[in-house]
Amino acid sequence: MAKILIVEDNALNIKLFCDLLAAHGHQPEAVTDSRFALDAAREFSPDLVITDIQLPHVSGLELIRLMREDEKLADVPIMAVTAYSARGDEERIREAGAQAYVSKPISVVRFAETVEQLLKGNEPAKESAGASGAPEGGREADPGSSPG
Ligand code: MN
Repeated sequence: MAKILIVEDNALNIKLFCDLLAAHGHQPEAVTDSRFALDAAREFSPDLVITDIQLPHVSGLELIRLMREDEKLADVPIMAVTAYSARGDEERIREAGAQAYVSKPISVVRFAETVEQLLKGNEPAKESAGASGAPEGGREADPGSSPG
């Protein structure tokens, strides 16, 4: 069982995420107003944070950056869930400090798999890599690069 904080302003998504996480034996807690998300995270001490990106007041990107600067939350894995689809958004979200990115409408299977990977301390495969038809997982050794 893991404690998972959800930051999401859409009530239907909150219900969906909470139901999914509870069905996998986890303990979800939701915050609808991102202005309170940092305090809620400090208090709840989650094993994982799932945040929407399109949030009023404090955007998900901003929240990710704030968490990464927070002494207590800097190492907590973050999974971003977003309806963004523009090229480069996944990179921006990862650069801000999120380990994973799942686009809406979510695939229930991908959502659950990504949660479990993050809780195990693994970095899930990029969503865009799967979509491009590139082989999943193992990157072939690049003969041009030096070892190390
Ligand atoms: Mn939203």
